[in-house]
Amino acid sequence: MKAFRCRVCDKPLHFENSRCVSCGSRLGFSRSERAIVPVDEKGRYVDADGLEWFLCRNLTLSGCTWLTESDGGECFSCGLTRNRPHDDDAIGLANYPAAERAKRHLVVELDGLGFPIVGKDTDPDNGLAFDLLSSVEENVVIGHANGLITIDLAESRAAHREEVREKLGEPYRTMLGHFRHEIGHYYEWQLVRGELRTRYRELFGDESVDYQGEIDRHYAEGPPAGWESSYISSYATMHPFEDFAETWAHYLHICDSIETASEYGLTTVGTITSFTSFRDVVVGIWMPLSVALNMINRSMGHEDLYPFVIPTAVLDKLEFVASLARRD
Ligand SMILES: [Zn+2]
Ligand SMILES: [Zn+2]
Ligand SMILES: [Zn+2]
Repeated sequence: MKAFRCRVCDKPLHFENSRCVSCGSRLGFSRSERAIVPVDEKGRYVDADGLEWFLCRNLTLSGCTWLTESDGGECFSCGLTRNRPHDDDAIGLANYPAAERAKRHLVVELDGLGFPIVGKDTDPDNGLAFDLLSSVEENVVIGHANGLITIDLAESRAAHREEVREKLGEPYRTMLGHFRHEIGHYYEWQLVRGELRTRYRELFGDESVDYQGEIDRHYAEGPPAGWESSYISSYATMHPFEDFAETWAHYLHICDSIETASEYGLTTVGTITSFTSFRDVVVGIWMPLSVALNMINRSMGHEDLYPFVIPTAVLDKLEFVASLARRD
């Protein structure tokens, strides 16, 4: 994530700031400028071309600070949400902002990496939409199907997340992580076509094997012995679809964390674009950086920031995922 600055007073801002704490200016996020811009007290911003922008109508509902072209309308990110908790669902609404915040973070990263994002309102067949559902009164299964991503809003609550994480023996579980994993399923569906499937199968295996059968096997028998030398996580061993989505999520974890580190002067060996292969980015920047960040977390008594070891086989998988960026 970029390190933003206030255009009025030049003091540092953080993504999602709705007001500058230094000069008090009201702020909005412009997706087209990839910048936080000042808005007037009516929430209006006029860009360099004279185009008028307005704060998204969901500022009070979900803390959205993004700009939209229509007064009283929804921003691009909010527009991707097909279903959200009803206005009378107090628990669902309390858990809702964290999911929208993670989605906005995801959209900004995908924009930066050059992955196309098209909503189902524009392309009903190949577009993307989100159901952000509260599992208080119904069972919600997190997943992706034909461009529709479903997220369980109970995952916004740390206590719930930690309980599930421990039960499943996972080293890491976050709302942003869910979005990154599920969007991986979407982009596999959209981008891994034609001759790319051959290389995909060499790396991840044959995705046509029975999905439910493989999931049942995983939960009955656990991951295969020695999985650590070929997979980024135990979850990735379940099925090629899950291996790809897990690898994809790590690609996004790594790209975003390196960008943030370089924006704040924590890396000295260059940025992602100064390397010709993603493998070299991981070995040259991410591995030493993530070890240092883990040690900083330990200094504060926290668990490791990045509780994963990346084996050589996963470097090849990450290289494949990185190669999907800006193909068309
Ligand atoms: Zn300011
Ligand atoms: Zn919005
Ligand atoms: Zn999955």
